[in-house]
Amino acid sequence: MDNGSERARARRSVKRDAILKALLQSKSHPSAEHIYNLLKQELPDLSLGTVYRNLSLFREEGLSISVGVVKGQERFDGNVSPHSHLFCSCGAVVDIDGIGIDEELDIKASLLSGCEITGHEIVFHGLCPECKNKKERSGGN
Ligand SMILES: [Zn+2]
Ligand SMILES: [Zn+2]
Repeated sequence: MDNGSERARARRSVKRDAILKALLQSKSHPSAEHIYNLLKQELPDLSLGTVYRNLSLFREEGLSISVGVVKGQERFDGNVSPHSHLFCSCGAVVDIDGIGIDEELDIKASLLSGCEITGHEIVFHGLCPECKNKKERSGGN
């Protein structure tokens, strides 16, 4: 057996596991760069490219979703159950649970467009709790 490549494979799966764990533990919908910065101390030979590659693999494998691009960076979510997001101007992406899938909306969209609809995502825009508090403290507006 080629022990060199076996060791390389083992190292790769250590990285993969660490990236997946960081993604699953994060509630902040991290970017690849964010995960890279979190892990680079414990994995000094980790590269940003490796983080990107693993994140897109997770998406292909159904372990993660991409929630969109915020300030030029794609943001990922380890929570693949259907839920909505709020995008704040500070760059925060906040989970909004409890908004169910509205099948009537799919039917309406299908009738309006003539398309076959397989699902929809609801995206909210506004202020995250932190920005909302800041605004309230500074006296509104
Ligand atoms: Zn989410
Ligand atoms: Zn905010």
